Amino acid sequence: MQKTREFHRRSITDRDAFWREQAERVLWDTPFAEVLDFSRPPFARWFVGGQTNLCFNAVDRWVESQGEQPALIWVSTEVDQEITYTRRQLFDEVNAVAAMLREQGVGRGDRVLLYMPMVPQAVFTMLACARLGAVHSVVFGGFASVNLAQRIDDATPKVIVSADAGSRAGKVVPYKPLLDKALSLCAHPPKSVIVLNRGLAPCGLEPRRDLDYQALRERHEGARVPVQWLESSEPSYILYTSGTTGKPKGVQRDVGGYAVALAASMEYLFDGKPGDTFFCTSDIGWVVGHSYIVYGPLIGGQATILYEGTPVRPDGAILWKLVEQHRVNTLFSAPTAVRVLKRQAPELLSRHDLSTLRAVYLAGEPLDEPTAQWISEGLGKPIIDNYWQTESGWPILSAQPGVERVATRFGSPSFPVYGFDARIVSEQTGEDLPAGEKGVVAIVPPLPPGAMSTIWGDDDRFVQTYFTSIPGRQLYSTFDWGRVDEDGYWFILGRTDDVINVAGHRLGTREIEESINSHSGIAECAVVGVADSLKGQVAMAFAVLKNPALAERPEDARAVEGDIMRVVEDQLGAVARPARIRFVAALPKTRSGKVLRRAIVAICEGRDPGDLTTIEDPSSLEQIKDALQ
Ligand code: ATP
Ligand code: MG
Repeated sequence: MQKTREFHRRSITDRDAFWREQAERVLWDTPFAEVLDFSRPPFARWFVGGQTNLCFNAVDRWVESQGEQPALIWVSTEVDQEITYTRRQLFDEVNAVAAMLREQGVGRGDRVLLYMPMVPQAVFTMLACARLGAVHSVVFGGFASVNLAQRIDDATPKVIVSADAGSRAGKVVPYKPLLDKALSLCAHPPKSVIVLNRGLAPCGLEPRRDLDYQALRERHEGARVPVQWLESSEPSYILYTSGTTGKPKGVQRDVGGYAVALAASMEYLFDGKPGDTFFCTSDIGWVVGHSYIVYGPLIGGQATILYEGTPVRPDGAILWKLVEQHRVNTLFSAPTAVRVLKRQAPELLSRHDLSTLRAVYLAGEPLDEPTAQWISEGLGKPIIDNYWQTESGWPILSAQPGVERVATRFGSPSFPVYGFDARIVSEQTGEDLPAGEKGVVAIVPPLPPGAMSTIWGDDDRFVQTYFTSIPGRQLYSTFDWGRVDEDGYWFILGRTDDVINVAGHRLGTREIEESINSHSGIAECAVVGVADSLKGQVAMAFAVLKNPALAERPEDARAVEGDIMRVVEDQLGAVARPARIRFVAALPKTRSGKVLRRAIVAICEGRDPGDLTTIEDPSSLEQIKDALQ
């Protein structure tokens, strides 16, 4: 890993020269005067004075060389449709939508909020905003009215673009009624709403406010809208964090730094090149979707697949079928998707020709060792666990096969990515910790290009939230625990608020989860700390079995529970044994696949679980309640 280390070292110690070189990947209308302005720490302004545009770099610049090649491939297994847009067609669509938005008065710096399913019009709209210099804020389609209203009031958009409905696992998910309700709750509703009517659900238009997307689109056929050049540090978008640990934060991103970071990552992290095909199964409502469905691949001259569907419909081979059909080179997904596949027949992994596929990237939550091993062996492809946050915009820790091919280790997202001066520091003293010791994953500012510039409308909250929790130093805290092993591989050990204290022993719930997951009968599990009058806290485990029949009778469940207890005791010691292991059919998760530990704890302690609008399947909480009986 000598090369990776050296590359990383140079990005930190010879920062300006390093990023000046990387900036050549982006087309600038006006060259920048300074690589970095860090005169007001922790605020970093990258490529100061440079003018560029994300849409220009993602669309226009490739039209000449790749005009007739696929740029956006939309596949919906929900409505059984597939449409491929060439780069030129993408250019046409984006221009038409830009003209539609311009007609509504949208210009530089104005916000446009998207509340849309996984349809190509959502991508056109994001790129059209970028073209106009408008700031998009994509709100994940699963959010309900109250969340949506909060975000509308926070971003105060001039226009909202939405749709009648989405579809998930064959069921229509209405959007427009939720939006209408949200608008009625808003203090600052926008003047106009553009609605894409897919014909999935009844969709009334409010006169004087609502406009029909298709009708506008037809009227603007053939329109051309000039690119609005932006200063590198102007905002490109606002995106709210998942809200796993509390009130979501409106992460604001810049233009130039983001373009450079993504362009470089296409080569160094994904080992890709123009003409490749990239398939990211995330949602455009999440950061992974922003960076690796939309901007990253398109800026890198790659075709991108936009997939509306689940990994198991029509069957558990659908992802691999799409890889074969579209000759996908890079697949990007999440551990939660792999855990879903793990409950399907393993033969599905080898049914299709995956010869074009170089590697599978997984991010968003911990990738436990057994799951990593299962998918790696089943596919015979490298599995690249990469660790990042909405805030970082692109991976903080990852293998970097475009820099150097280094063996990965199951359970580890490998090494710090160039640009991120990541450290493991002591929670008490703020000092760097030696290999082997567990501490907080922190980043020495400046955050690199592509990371958040601030919290939308709240510079103080940005500083207070991220840069004041580590004593003695102004470091960015990820609020995750980590450890580096003797060979330099990093491990994420859970969130700093997921530590429990059992009779004076501090235990990371993640470590207990890892141990339970290593039992061959377990598909996934969640461990939480629950208040206990005797021990302070006890660990409670909720596990999903690969074969649910195994625990159908109480005596069988007790036997499996005993088995798992022994595994944990062997691996971590008796103190780490959960007080109880309960079996459920599904864990309560956010729609981005993150376990809602806060809500589980609340239920275990008999409290109200609070805001649950981000939950994927409300019945999963009922199961937790039942399991506790
Ligand atoms: P909020 O900050 O609002 O509570 P969130 O942290 O869940 O929400 P995201 O930014 O979507 O919102 O998630 C980032 C977090 O996801 C990381 O801080 C980390 O805890 C977890 N994570 C992401 N990738 C990995 C990974 N590869 N391994 C372990 N954990 C990961
Ligand atoms: Mg977070």
